[in-house]
Amino acid sequence: MGQVLRLDLSRNKATVHELSKVLARNFIGGRGLNSKVLYDEVGPDVDPLGPDNLLIFGVGPLNGTISPSSSKWTVTAKSPLTGITGDGCSGSGFGAEMKYAGFDQVIIKGKAKHPVYLWIEEGNVEIRDASHIWGKDTLKTEEAIKRDLGDQKIQVACIGPAGENLVRIACVMSNFYRTAARTGMGAVMGSKSLKAIAIRGGKDVKVADPEAFEEAVLDAKSKIRADWMYDIYATRGTPALVDWLNAQGGLSTKNYEFGTFDEASEINAETFLKKHEHTTIACFGCPIHCTHYFMEEYGQGKLEFAHLFALGALCLNGNLSSILENISLASDLGLDIISLGSTIAFAMECYEKELITKKDLDGIALEWGNHDAMKEIIKLIASRKGFGDVLAEGVRKASQRIGKGAEEFAQHTKGLESCCQNLPKKGWLLAYATATRGSDHLRGMENIEGIEGRKDKAIEIFGTPSVLDLLSIEGKPMLIKWHQDFLAVIDSLETCKFNCDVLYALGPEELANLYSTATGWKIDGKELLKIGERIYNVERMFNVREGISRKDDVPPSRMFNPLTSGRYKGTQATPEELQKMLDEYYELRGWNKNGIPTKQKLKELNIT
Ligand code: SF4
Repeated sequence: MGQVLRLDLSRNKATVHELSKVLARNFIGGRGLNSKVLYDEVGPDVDPLGPDNLLIFGVGPLNGTISPSSSKWTVTAKSPLTGITGDGCSGSGFGAEMKYAGFDQVIIKGKAKHPVYLWIEEGNVEIRDASHIWGKDTLKTEEAIKRDLGDQKIQVACIGPAGENLVRIACVMSNFYRTAARTGMGAVMGSKSLKAIAIRGGKDVKVADPEAFEEAVLDAKSKIRADWMYDIYATRGTPALVDWLNAQGGLSTKNYEFGTFDEASEINAETFLKKHEHTTIACFGCPIHCTHYFMEEYGQGKLEFAHLFALGALCLNGNLSSILENISLASDLGLDIISLGSTIAFAMECYEKELITKKDLDGIALEWGNHDAMKEIIKLIASRKGFGDVLAEGVRKASQRIGKGAEEFAQHTKGLESCCQNLPKKGWLLAYATATRGSDHLRGMENIEGIEGRKDKAIEIFGTPSVLDLLSIEGKPMLIKWHQDFLAVIDSLETCKFNCDVLYALGPEELANLYSTATGWKIDGKELLKIGERIYNVERMFNVREGISRKDDVPPSRMFNPLTSGRYKGTQATPEELQKMLDEYYELRGWNKNGIPTKQKLKELNIT
């Protein structure tokens, strides 16, 4: 759309700027452009919860078009959880509506004197009083704003009480149940006394070559439907992973200590589909509709594998109804469920080992699997009441406050709580260690290692099937660098990862075709990956400026524990293997032995 909206909430001032074409070409949009603004404007002296931190909402060139699954938007800031690059990505109508309202980026700084929300309509912006909705949950906030403004089609991104209370694992919610989670973006929004952004527009999103673009879209859709994983995701969605991971011994259980959960069949996709009222929902323009939305008398919300693992297996909770109830509660309160489940599991282990007691927890018996206690703890965390104030800091800071050796049980990298799988995949180990947000499966996610059905893709992309062997470190630095750069592109186009590195339907060439026909800037897959490399390096440089180096490139400690069950029983990566992979990875990246991008690499990527 060519326009950037800047708001200074301390001065009650809004200005509109032209989007730099050079920046757009070099960083695409969405995550990439946001990361560049963060790198340029937020230095190491900035407090993540202070007025000088920026909160940046960004969309990409495909949002608002018919490009499949291009529904994502990214919110970026220096993270109050990790102190480094922070962002959360969500799929909802909010991204498309931002384009229809005329903006590619909304950059917010300062702090309002009282709670406010933004009303952006067709290029105009109003800073409105939000005192009447401050304290409300995310569901009621969205309902109230739509009612106030008299339009149900308005798109709203908002925080719940957790963000208002500066809980470091707070997220931003939109469309009632869509979450921009990870790294505490909700707390940054709360620190600015910004309750919500409401947005509505009617501008056209034009593409450069409509005929060629339509052809590229049809080609992409047919490739998505032809992939063998399409049916799995369309019918069972990410919850299908519960059974698969459990069989491999990689379903993170009991605070990542084990990889098999005895009650997995109680919380798997089949049990959910059979026993619970639900419907499948698509993000804006998505042919996969992988989202499973549940409606129960105790609440409603979106079910993902990450929720089942975090509020289920990780806490030894095999009660699916309680998981759904707690998903609904956490979403209403505006909490990142991966970080939340990891934090509760950590606290349960501290309770078991008597590092914290019932007295510390105001009488709550935080035993493994006690889902009623989990519900109470979630409320305490969101309100920062009692011991909730300690856990609201996330596992790293909470473990430091508890002391007595609690750090040993806090599973994180660079302060971000861990996610998902405990498989002995050597590539994933490296991906977690070097992800620019911390312990993050989404920065280097690859679904090639250990997946026989991806042999053809491994040969097509890397020229060898050897990267399939998850127990070998051979080729893994190349595998992970490629995926990190590719994911930076995907997130900057703001299209869905699932089409690209879960389904492997759309590769760099397909994305380049969509991008070129939409923008008129001719580019091929190779050049697109180079932009991805630039984005990854800008994020790394932001982190380096905050003190990050090789010493911090370590996965959560339990990823080194041998698997206790399943197909890969007895195996696991070793710290020595990680060091070997890091040497090769840094060299491939053009970073020095300490993990710092060299001057030569920065020059090559035109990063100043
Ligand atoms: S695949 Fe799922 S998460 Fe991705 S855009 Fe489609 S519905 Fe949304």
